Amino acid sequence: MPNFKLSDDVFRAATQKFQTPFHLYDEQGIIDTIKKLKKAFAPAPFKEYFAVKALPNPAILKIVKEHGCGVDCASFSELMLAEACGFTGHDIMFSANTVPDEEFAYANKLNAIINLDDISHIEPLNQNGGIPETICMRFNPGGIFMDQNDIMGSPGQSKYGMTREQLTEALTKLKKLGAEKFGLHAFLASNTRDSRYYPELAALLIKTGIKLMEETGVQLDFINLSGGIGIPYHPSEKIADINKIGEGVNFEYKRELINRGIKGVKIFSELGRYLTGPHGWLVTKAIRHKDIHKQYIGVDASACDLMRPAMYGAYHHISVVGKGDAPHTEVYDVVGSLCENNDKFAIDRKLPKIDSGDIIVIHDTGAHSRAMGYNYNGKMRCGEVLYTKEGDFKLIRRRETPKDYFATLDISDDCAIRKLTE
Ligand SMILES: *Cc1c(COP(=O)(O)O)cnc(C)c1O
Repeated sequence: MPNFKLSDDVFRAATQKFQTPFHLYDEQGIIDTIKKLKKAFAPAPFKEYFAVKALPNPAILKIVKEHGCGVDCASFSELMLAEACGFTGHDIMFSANTVPDEEFAYANKLNAIINLDDISHIEPLNQNGGIPETICMRFNPGGIFMDQNDIMGSPGQSKYGMTREQLTEALTKLKKLGAEKFGLHAFLASNTRDSRYYPELAALLIKTGIKLMEETGVQLDFINLSGGIGIPYHPSEKIADINKIGEGVNFEYKRELINRGIKGVKIFSELGRYLTGPHGWLVTKAIRHKDIHKQYIGVDASACDLMRPAMYGAYHHISVVGKGDAPHTEVYDVVGSLCENNDKFAIDRKLPKIDSGDIIVIHDTGAHSRAMGYNYNGKMRCGEVLYTKEGDFKLIRRRETPKDYFATLDISDDCAIRKLTE
């Protein structure tokens, strides 16, 4: 089930304080999820590095920091966010690909753990701050990644990581250049609620890590299970069983490491969606009703605020404030205003009768939602509001204005746009 934790009164109160649309995030929900995650992975030495790209807001990063998480960054600006929020050294994982020189230099300056996506990145890293003592490598086993019965992902089609042979070659090189400890990372399935994924991945990374250790004499310091644990977007979907996932990882940890007398290897994750996804809602208003070959409800948000439905055909649950118990008698497409026919939050969705001004809540927008937004058609992206654990509302990102949209054009003194936005 999607997350129905917040009552209609909370959404109503929020719209009295802030103009729609906005994303509303539940601080307590995020905190509870972090606690649940940490508990599920104990007793193995575990640390979560929150994937900044999922919800790149300092207010959120401060919450995850307070609760013992690091951050996973993949760009210059994400590293800046991490630095500004007080993350330092090995509390930052830098898991990027096609990395520009200046990003290696910055990550090195922050003493972040650098996760090398490719063997060809060793030289540029070496020239931009050098090879750190602890280094991580990203593994791409190729083919398809599967349990005995089910396909979980297709790494053979993915651009990330190094082949098994390259790992040996890379680590041998890295050792010569000063690396003393290494971590091994892979991201082989996305948005999966299957409790076998992390344990299978842990087994693969640990076994490969041990082999690499034997081949090169470099010490295995951690395995990084990366992101990928999914959330239930559709009411028919079940929540990922995090305790079972944690138990499964601990089972492999014990079997493959402890029982062979290998101690001290850490387990990391870089979850984004699992941590914050269910704890966000896009709050928007019905502003138009159109009756042609189909029934359309036009809302004041657009794909610029949440592009997952347009981009992936992703399902997001929709509820209408005050009408949760009303019979779902209508079939609507719920749409934004872009001149793009994929700007639809829902297609042929059964909903209660919607009136102009109704508050429409789009569920599970706490990850990869506002962050993916864009400005097509000159649409301004909405702001973000935190529903604090004390029950207050805090604006943590204002909505965009035309001035923001025109900022990059504002490059000469006589720019007519500047005058319009002054
Ligand atoms: C996107 C990403 C994540 C987070 O993925 P989720 O699906 O949100 O868990 C973690 N690590 C890397 C390297 C990523 O690219």
